[in-house]
Amino acid sequence: MSDCLFCKIIAGEIPSIKVYEDEHTFAFMDIAPLTKGHTLLIPKTHCKDLFEMSEDVARNLYAAAPKVANAIKAAFNPAGMNTINNNGAEAGQTVFHYHLHLVPRYDEKDGLVVNWNGRSQEFPPD
Ligand code: C5P
Repeated sequence: MSDCLFCKIIAGEIPSIKVYEDEHTFAFMDIAPLTKGHTLLIPKTHCKDLFEMSEDVARNLYAAAPKVANAIKAAFNPAGMNTINNNGAEAGQTVFHYHLHLVPRYDEKDGLVVNWNGRSQEFPPD
């Protein structure tokens, strides 16, 4: 899709820090990471959201997900990881090319509570 930001990242027209690529998928560091190592995994075939995604695209994307998760784990040694996907503006989606957020978690005080919309919220002060 010519005016899609993430299609342009896949094409190399917009720079990104690439984490993983295969025939069907692409992963790169989120430009505004919620935690260290926050990565986005996206299909190369443009689809807006989960509602538009074909079974083939889903199969290929989720085949890559554990590889990307384990690469992040090896690089950053998090204690855990959230996977988050927002579908629709009302659900917090801001870029309309499907993406799975992989958000490494370090400990309960990493300063982040992940809400349904995937955005961060500081813990209240003690
Ligand atoms: O789920 P949502 O659509 O809100 O997430 C979009 C994500 O894309 C954000 O986390 C944002 O930081 C990221 N982004 C990016 N590079 C851009 C534009 C947005 O990593 N050039």
